Amino acid sequence: QAKPRIVVLGAGYAGMMTTKKLLKNLSPEEAEIVLVNKHNYHYQTTWLHELAAGTINPNQVRIMIRDIISPNRVRLIYDTVVEIDKGNQRVLMENSELTYDYLVVALGYESNTFGINGMDKHAFFIENFESCQLIREHIEYQFARYHSDPTMDEASLAILVGGGGYTGIEFVGELVEKIPKLCKKYDIDRGKVKIINVEAAPTILPGFDHDLVAYAKKSLQERGAEIIEGTKINECTAEGFIVGENNELIKAGTIVWTGGVKGNSILDKSGFELTKGKVTVNGDLRAPGYDNIFILGDCAWVMNKAENRPYPPTAQAAMQHATTCAQNIRALMYHEPLEEFVFSDKGTVASLGVTDAVGSILNGTKLYGKSAATMKKVVDDRYLFLLGGPKLLLKKGKFRPF
Ligand code: FAD
Repeated sequence: QAKPRIVVLGAGYAGMMTTKKLLKNLSPEEAEIVLVNKHNYHYQTTWLHELAAGTINPNQVRIMIRDIISPNRVRLIYDTVVEIDKGNQRVLMENSELTYDYLVVALGYESNTFGINGMDKHAFFIENFESCQLIREHIEYQFARYHSDPTMDEASLAILVGGGGYTGIEFVGELVEKIPKLCKKYDIDRGKVKIINVEAAPTILPGFDHDLVAYAKKSLQERGAEIIEGTKINECTAEGFIVGENNELIKAGTIVWTGGVKGNSILDKSGFELTKGKVTVNGDLRAPGYDNIFILGDCAWVMNKAENRPYPPTAQAAMQHATTCAQNIRALMYHEPLEEFVFSDKGTVASLGVTDAVGSILNGTKLYGKSAATMKKVVDDRYLFLLGGPKLLLKKGKFRPF
């Protein structure tokens, strides 16, 4: 009998780690492993805000997949998944198709605009490597033509960020460091450039500890960001956001929406039952009703049964999903009992630029400023080490000896 084929869709945190763990758990004789991804590179989604603001070299954010996963052991397919035909156990891609015995869906998130009028049309999104390159280029273009294009005014230089959650605030943290540099480069007075964050909830960073929120807000305001809280965005136009009860227009030349995410739309197209755009998985991370399909990372709605709410979608969780999934695929192959996924929370740190951050770790210890920023870099570098060992860490790490 032919060996079973395990197909992993998406080479993000969950997909890369699952593939690595499968390679460890199974010999080449036991299973064929296939990894499908849109591009030939893996990128660190957790660094996308830096890419969008232009505070990191794009090549530091992406890693060639074949440098981490040997094409001799894993069939690497660089193609875009279009649909999963569950009935026939097939994956349809733009240029080819493939059957599977076991499927791992790790296709990440897409932005969710919650139907805010005009957002899809006029805003940029921190969504993937390409969408962030576009933001970076657009901001620089606005600055580059400010003096020579008569249609440009101060509002054209303004950057408006919708959503004061984790991604929005980390992005603003990068912008307050990048904008002074762009002003210098293009001979523009820093006072002319507004960086504005709009959040509907009463405070930015909903869910974070009160002291951490207060620290983050002060840090960003002191470096020139405007934070508008408790204010709903009613509409997005080519000129900016229309906000609040009085429908006030906040103008900007760059509009970025970071206010919501949902699972990859392939899930919907493929007929999975969804909760807020994600698949509510069983405790063993399988899609209900499908014994051979695992859903991981930002595509999965994983319930924290003790607290009766879902775990937040994080890279930390995605990597832990990978371990359980790889273990469970092996268990399925050998008719052994499957493991339940248990999340082990190591804490959260949100960066506010290169040298500032806020977070809480393990036992609830709060971190601020440089110590939090250092912790963030340690977390980033730890991931690189887990993924590609010391070689990758030296090449792409944030603490580099050169
Ligand atoms: P991803 O890592 O996003 O990977 C999805 C992969 O699927 C990508 O490679 C993509 O190219 C591929 N793909 C998508 N569609 C297709 C298709 N149709 N066909 C083929 N391939 C496709 N989490 C933390 O734990 N800590 C943090 O500090 C943190 N910071 C963050 C900062 C920002 C700015 C953002 C946006 C997120 C942050 N997160 C953080 C959340 C974290 O990045 C996500 O939870 C994590 O990336 C989810 O991993 P994933 O494997 O599900 O998806």
